[in-house]
Formats: sequence, C-alpha cells, structure tokens
Amino acid sequence: MSNLFEIEQPINLPVFNSDISLPIRKIYCVGRNYVEHAKEMSDEVSRDVPFFFIKSSHDVILSGSEIEYPAGTSDLHYELELAVIIDKKLKNVDAEEAKLAIFGYAVGLDLTKRDLQTQLKNQSLPWALSKSFSQAAVLSPVNINTSFENIYTQTLVLKQNNQVRQNSLLGEMVWKIEELIAYLSTLDTLYPGDVIFTGTPSGVGAVERGDKLKGSISGVGELDLTVLP
Ligand code: ZN
Repeated sequence: MSNLFEIEQPINLPVFNSDISLPIRKIYCVGRNYVEHAKEMSDEVSRDVPFFFIKSSHDVILSGSEIEYPAGTSDLHYELELAVIIDKKLKNVDAEEAKLAIFGYAVGLDLTKRDLQTQLKNQSLPWALSKSFSQAAVLSPVNINTSFENIYTQTLVLKQNNQVRQNSLLGEMVWKIEELIAYLSTLDTLYPGDVIFTGTPSGVGAVERGDKLKGSISGVGELDLTVLP
C-alpha cells in the first residue's frame, strides 16, 4: 500500500566529532528542577515526584539556526538545559540501569510562550501548546564523550547578546538525571532516540526580535540561535 503523502521526518542530531547522526523520537521535559528557577516562577519545588511535559521531535531545530519570532506570543522565553539522549528501551528501571542507557548529552534550549503558559495555567487548562510549537526546541550536536561521573560538576551558561543571563552548576538539579530517567520509565516505556530536557536554572527571561542567544555547558558543547529582527 502506498502512503497518501510523505511527512517530513524530524531532523537527526549530529554527533560531535563523528559522521554518524542520531534520529530522535520523543522529547520529555522536566519542570521545576532547579530551586532558584522554581522560586522565580513563584512555584514550589516538591521532592515527592517530578513532573514532565512533552515537546514533539518535529519541534527540533539545530544550533546555528535563525528563527522568526513565533506567532501567538509576545513573551517568548529562553530556558537553557542539559539534554540527555537515551539509546535503550527502558521500562521500570532503577537509577543504576538508567545511567547505562545514556547515549550522550547535548545543550538544549527550551523556548516557551510564557504569556500563553501563564494564561492557560491560570485557567487550569493544558499548556501543551505553550511548550510545543515549530522550532520550540534547539539542540546542539550530541557529545558522547562526556563522562557521567563528571556531569554534575559542569556549568551551564546562557548569554543573551553577550550578557550572562543563566549560570548554574548542573549539580544544582533537584532531581538527578538517573532519577528522572528511572521515574519516567515507571510512567512510560522509553525508547532509543528519546531525549530528556532536564530543566532550567534561574535567570529565564524574554527573547526579543534580533537577539543572539548563546548557550554552553562545559564538557558538553555549545549552542546558538538568532532571532530575526
Ligand atoms: Zn524547560
């Protein structure tokens, strides 16, 4: 049987220093995973359970892209995050097994329509579309040489037009990467190519037309994004 039409596939991620590329499947993002960011959003951090939202793999664009300011918002925010890429099928695993399923790390930018999110939250409506829209997730090439042992000593920095806006140690995460993966694997079956955005530290703010955003995570890589004037 032939398809009625072909759909455009999500982009593959380049792997740093390699000619292989990585197909991606589902993007899970954790909310409120740094105490200071939760405070700036007037949210409380709970150590009971983490919560997640989803972006589509079709939302992903690569570092180096230029984007138009998206429609349907006048308060687009940047959130720089460590992204973790999985290469195993995981169901009900513990933290030790979760660690073994990490294929690599990337620098991720979670673009958020903050005004829409706030409006929908206040109405107790789902705020999915404030997080998932075309070009809402920017990723750097995947680094497969970062050792898990050192990951929590790495520093995340976001610069907006050369001004530092976010600056945090990855060790400040409330839920550690292996805990996030293990917990997620009790809610859903994870598959190779799944990506987990591990939350953003404080310093989030508005993106303006004409901005140049530059994100870096030591030992992982760099990302940049231009918003057209
Ligand atoms: Zn985020």
